[in-house]
Amino acid sequence: MKNTTGRILAATAIVATAATALTACAGSEGGSDGLLASIEAGSVTLGTKFDQPGLGLRNADGSMSGLDVDIATEVVNRIAEKEGHAEPTIEWRETPSAQRETLIQNGEVDMIAATYSINAGRAETVSFGGPYLLTHQALLVRADETSIDSLESLDGKILCSVTGSTPAQKVKEALPGVQLQEYDTYSSCTEALRNGNVDAMTTDATILNGYSAQSPGDFTVIEMEKDGEPFTNEHYGIGVTKDDQATVDAINEALNAIIEDGTFDKIVADNLGDGQGVSPDSPGDLSFLDK
Ligand code: GLU
Repeated sequence: MKNTTGRILAATAIVATAATALTACAGSEGGSDGLLASIEAGSVTLGTKFDQPGLGLRNADGSMSGLDVDIATEVVNRIAEKEGHAEPTIEWRETPSAQRETLIQNGEVDMIAATYSINAGRAETVSFGGPYLLTHQALLVRADETSIDSLESLDGKILCSVTGSTPAQKVKEALPGVQLQEYDTYSSCTEALRNGNVDAMTTDATILNGYSAQSPGDFTVIEMEKDGEPFTNEHYGIGVTKDDQATVDAINEALNAIIEDGTFDKIVADNLGDGQGVSPDSPGDLSFLDK
């Protein structure tokens, strides 16, 4: 009897804690009140990847590193400074590819910088600051692979990518002869490639260069071209609540300053070595969506 009561009390305590946690991160209507309000309140929840070296990585000691982590931190701190607020504390939230729009729509994050390509479909449910970086879809193969060297050579091969990502989508559209296996994360895709369960992996060159650099000598990155042009253009944006134009404007002002004063180049050099396959983009210019 005593035990049962104890269990009920414990269960009540868990429910109460969960309710407090929900209230703590929820604004009006159960969601974030927006990035600007969170900066003013002194704490922000930022979404990024946790398993992509050089871009968004949670290290063994719990610290965060990577280009997207540095860009997001810089953006938030510059907005805070401009508005006359202290630098907010940052809580990092893992945002896998397929969950990004939902996490923004539910208000569980104030913004997402997570190798997040801007495209028309996504722009129907979230708004984007940026683009801040341009990269292209590429292939990763094992270093001893000899039969894959181009888009065409993928026919009949087993390729992995990540659910909800633009590269997975593009492969399905353009290469119906390829067997596509979709994983939840790029790190599990990389393990499948290492173990020989798939023949190649495809996503942005930035991401593939990061995994390749992490395991020197194990993998080769191959560019993908169609008719002499890059197979895709991946314009990275910062996702925020749909139609929060004040936040989009503030992010773009910060991003433009970050690119113009050399901070972007420094962040690339710090995180991506020679920065192969990466160029700064034009924040605020979404004209590529019309093409
Ligand atoms: N940039 C692409 C995308 O947003 C691939 C990388 C990713 O899945 O995060 O889908």
